[in-house]
Amino acid sequence: MEVLLAQPRGFCAGVVRAIETVERALEKYGPPVYVRHEIVHNKYVVESLKNKGAIFVENLSEVPTKAVTVFSAHGVARSVEEEAAARGLPVLNATCPLVTKVHNQGKRYMSKGRALVLIGHAGHPEVEGTMGQVPGPVLLVQDVDDVAALTLHADTPVAYITQTTLSVDDTKDIILALQQRFTDIQGPDTRDICYATQNRQSAVRDLSKLVDVILVVGATNSSNSNRLREIGTEVGVASYLIADGSELNAEWLKDAKTVGITAGASAPEVLVDDVIEALRRIGPVAVSVLPGREENIEFRLPSELTTA
Ligand code: SF4
Repeated sequence: MEVLLAQPRGFCAGVVRAIETVERALEKYGPPVYVRHEIVHNKYVVESLKNKGAIFVENLSEVPTKAVTVFSAHGVARSVEEEAAARGLPVLNATCPLVTKVHNQGKRYMSKGRALVLIGHAGHPEVEGTMGQVPGPVLLVQDVDDVAALTLHADTPVAYITQTTLSVDDTKDIILALQQRFTDIQGPDTRDICYATQNRQSAVRDLSKLVDVILVVGATNSSNSNRLREIGTEVGVASYLIADGSELNAEWLKDAKTVGITAGASAPEVLVDDVIEALRRIGPVAVSVLPGREENIEFRLPSELTTA
């Protein structure tokens, strides 16, 4: 069996920074370190950090007084920041700088008196964080139908921002619908949407032209991993989202000569290796990596961790 690996795949700079923030916090302050929400949406990553002394909570009320607290890569609402400040919790903010950039865009548009539309998935922690960061109402749209259902007048000054784990391709129809609906509309340059999301989606499209089956390594609650699987399915290649090699089903591969593998931005490479190992247990495999866009973006750690 031939195995082709998408390039790029797996960890993005925001995920690397978030995980390193927890690891460095554990080294600097000693365990336990509390993390609000899964630092990134991957069970393996969360379990590894738990083993090193991180404690994951959903609410700050679960964090003891004065305990070092990390906010996840997805970002948090202002109310969460205020609660942490009111309780005097020492906070390390691992919100991805690209998510913070979206928060700032939203604040800027709102300060100019525009009605703010957020393109994203209801209930996703990043969306909840973004909605809670801007000081005013945010209109969430998930698809083109939601745009039609907006009750604003056509001449209302409107601006839109987007969830980072949606690519340029994901948002273009919704943006077009917004532009057709409103006469005075502004939005960020679409190239501003996360580079990693776009690159991984482009890579899976390239991969899909060459393979019979696509395996996406990632968690079921990872928005960008789900999207990678959807793209494979949309272009007509049987695509499966699996956490690791244990979830591989030999039935999926019975007619496949070439298998493509990619991984969501929160999935570590060790899990890709695990899937390859599982394939080897089915039969001999030859692995090669597709050429693809090179990524060399790095984000600086929170300043508390870079000063003595
Ligand atoms: S996917 Fe993009 S926005 Fe999300 S953490 Fe990675 S770099 Fe940041």
